[in-house]
Amino acid sequence: MLPAAVEALTEQASRVGNASSLHTTGRAARAVVEESRERIASVLGARPSEVVFTSGGTEADNLAVKGTWAARRAEDPARTRLVVSGIEHHAVLDPVEFLVAEGATVGWLDPDRCGHIAVDDLRATLEARADDVALVSVMWANNEVGTVQPVAELAAVAREHGIPFHTDAVQAVAHLPVRFDDSGADLMTVSGHKVGGPMGVGALLARRDARLVPLAHGGGQERQVRSGTLDVPGIRALAVALEETVAVRDVEAKRVMALRDRLLEGALGLGLGITVTGCWTAGDATRRLPGNAHLLVPGCEGDSLLYLLDAAGVECSTGSACQAGVPQPSHVLLAMGHPESEARGALRLSLGHTSTDADVDAFLSALPGVVERARRAGGLL
Ligand code: PLP
Repeated sequence: MLPAAVEALTEQASRVGNASSLHTTGRAARAVVEESRERIASVLGARPSEVVFTSGGTEADNLAVKGTWAARRAEDPARTRLVVSGIEHHAVLDPVEFLVAEGATVGWLDPDRCGHIAVDDLRATLEARADDVALVSVMWANNEVGTVQPVAELAAVAREHGIPFHTDAVQAVAHLPVRFDDSGADLMTVSGHKVGGPMGVGALLARRDARLVPLAHGGGQERQVRSGTLDVPGIRALAVALEETVAVRDVEAKRVMALRDRLLEGALGLGLGITVTGCWTAGDATRRLPGNAHLLVPGCEGDSLLYLLDAAGVECSTGSACQAGVPQPSHVLLAMGHPESEARGALRLSLGHTSTDADVDAFLSALPGVVERARRAGGLL
């Protein structure tokens, strides 16, 4: 967390007051919430009334997908189809799969080898049939391979057909010029811990005319769509973190991009057969997140790389998920056309506001030894 966000969080946590209470401390807490809402709306190009606080990105995605589906079906039972990219985070994919069990159908938008969703694919899908579509959901930037999607163009196509458009902007906000109003989206997800704020707090930005059935029922907070006592310290810290992150975003994105480029060039130059996934052009952050470095290391299990790098002081991720204790290759890489054997050697490194040149150096000097040991562990040397 950014130090200013830690300060805001801890200071607020020591204050009494439920933002729904009518007494003095309750009203003071409400004032903090409403001021934070205004600050968040202002940096994200939204109206304060469009900010619905949640417990993070996962809840916001669930609310967008399930809440819209239920509302649209209530109006028109024929609207059962969800049009969704195949590279969404599980916070979108799993609610979609949950709804399939409830009678939804899915039109998947497949990425190209780079991880991009084509606007023409969405157009063709909706031109073929749109009267049964409840929602289109395509993430702003992918969390594994960092590809940035043409959100405004996709949203415009959905709008032509009168279909609500949701975008998960969790990964995008810290490094890209994200504005809700300019995006044309009806619903947009943000999360605190990707912008230097706390974990466990986030928001769904929802246009006033977006219809949502609540997931949880209770006190009717947040426009009646998200009941529950508001996390006032978390909300205040989210506002502080977002403001600070957005204020330095352009400069920080350039700094982080230079680290990413050095990391990728360095890894490719080690002669280990490593490749970079997705599209990467040094000096470009319009098609790939500036802080995302994703590599495929042939002949290695991603998990072996992860543990060996961890022991060397480098924390990374593989993008694989465990099912019944067995690592599964990333659905994102499979959707991009990588065979399972390649996808198993995935390594994802994320760079952010705490990353430095020394971190990149540490990674590059640890990598050759780690790859050699991981290949031995897999019996490939
Ligand atoms: N969406 C994306 C793209 C993410 O990367 C994440 C978390 O990493 C989430 C959703 C979930 O957000 P949260 O951790 O706040 O629930």
